[in-house]
Amino acid sequence: MQARASTHVIIVGGGFAGVACAKLLGEESRVRVTLIDQNGYHQFQPLLYQVATAELAGRDMTFDHTEVFHGQTAIQLVKAEVVAADVDDRTVTLADGTTIGGDYLVIAAGAQPNFFHTPGAREFAFPLYSLTDARRLRERVLQLFADAAAKPELVDDGALTFVVVGGGATGVEISGALSELVHDVMPHRYPTLAVAGARLILVDLGTSLLAPFSEESHTYARKQLERRGVELRLQTGVKEVARDHVMFNDGSTIATHLVIWGGGEMAAGIAGNAGLGQGRGGRIDVQPDLSVPGHPRVFVVGDIANIPFGGEHALPQLGSVAQQSGDWAARNILGDVDGTGRTPFHYRDKGIMAMIGRKAAVAEVGVHRHELHGRLAFAAWLGVHASLLANAGAELKAFVAWAEDFYVRPHHRSAELLDPAQVEIPRIQWGQSHGHSEGAG
Ligand SMILES: Cc1cc2nc3c(=O)[nH]c(=O)nc-3n(C[C@H](O)[C@H](O)[C@H](O)COP(=O)(O)OP(=O)(O)OC[C@H]3O[C@@H](n4cnc5c(N)ncnc54)[C@H](O)[C@@H]3O)c2cc1C
Repeated sequence: MQARASTHVIIVGGGFAGVACAKLLGEESRVRVTLIDQNGYHQFQPLLYQVATAELAGRDMTFDHTEVFHGQTAIQLVKAEVVAADVDDRTVTLADGTTIGGDYLVIAAGAQPNFFHTPGAREFAFPLYSLTDARRLRERVLQLFADAAAKPELVDDGALTFVVVGGGATGVEISGALSELVHDVMPHRYPTLAVAGARLILVDLGTSLLAPFSEESHTYARKQLERRGVELRLQTGVKEVARDHVMFNDGSTIATHLVIWGGGEMAAGIAGNAGLGQGRGGRIDVQPDLSVPGHPRVFVVGDIANIPFGGEHALPQLGSVAQQSGDWAARNILGDVDGTGRTPFHYRDKGIMAMIGRKAAVAEVGVHRHELHGRLAFAAWLGVHASLLANAGAELKAFVAWAEDFYVRPHHRSAELLDPAQVEIPRIQWGQSHGHSEGAG
């Protein structure tokens, strides 16, 4: 397919996939790009736990698009929400009603939490998918500690009982990070508070943690979390989330004011109104060249795409998949522009990994899934994330400095990030508890 000169490519979403796609296209003089993102920055999701647990400030894991694309004049940045996409004529409509059309449309709008219609979850649970989510979660944790320090009897009302839903990477990583905040940092901040009364409970429907990993990694993750004081409730589903408790599928309840939702994700909202075929989690089905069946000039990449892999399977929602698929879509567009043709997407597998805490991580790397645990896995995690960050246009010095600090100073947190007075906290209405306690209910 031969495209005309000055091909206009519209990219929706400036995360891992959209940024990679725009970066490559922006180097090509015969292409101009319009990158539309509702935030105007790339949020580096792998570091959301660190923001949520006061390890990092939000500004440390967000990259403003104007800086990422500094000097790339062929890229026009639009900060706006896309509310509709018309794949027949490759146009998108923004929230203010403006319509933008191009020769190619690349949809890279990512994912959002999937609450699986669990009553109360959307209203009361705290997901961890965006910077806003991470800040909201940090504020809630800090507020709960401040309230419990002021009124220790609130601990009996679940003030320091935190329930994490989902035993995948998100649930395991936030549980590990929270346990360090609770047990290593908060006792120094509130020396008179009985932090020993704090509970961290991780709930999952399955029989093991980190399902895509090996049996050995399941056991390692379980032991590491238990060592860090995390209570595991496996083979347990969540029936309802409320303001002051969570109810499980066996009818039991736990009093809590913080339920963290890592229970699953689904395609971003725009996937549902583009009129395209959708697979698991509402992800848009794509062909091996990453274009959409019947729409050769529409590409879908990253978390929002259902990218075929080995017959019935699809590639997982990972930063490296998103980055590589965004880059590949750009190559295929350039293949059209140059007349050299397209190639099917080939993913270079970097493995899977999860950080359970300082000095404790699991990594399964390489084609044969070589397993690493503990410090070596932590080192592998740092290496892969440094490379993802570098591709996102980050200054690596700051990341390395943070990583060193993270490793050697477990109790250290910036006073600013730990100060509940610094953040706008919506107050909890204590005293409206329904008196739930653990047990059949
Ligand atoms: C807590 C957490 C931890 C993770 N840890 C890791 C990890 O350690 N390693 C790893 O490889 N992966 C990790 N991931 C997964 C990884 O972050 C994702 O796979 C990756 O971000 C997907 O990239 P993307 O470009 O498809 O989407 P995103 O990075 O989510 O970017 C999508 C962009 O689209 C924009 N957008 C969405 N809808 C619209 C709209 N309607 N209009 C305009 N803009 C829109 C959003 O603002 C966003 O900027 C993690 C994910 C989470 C949530």
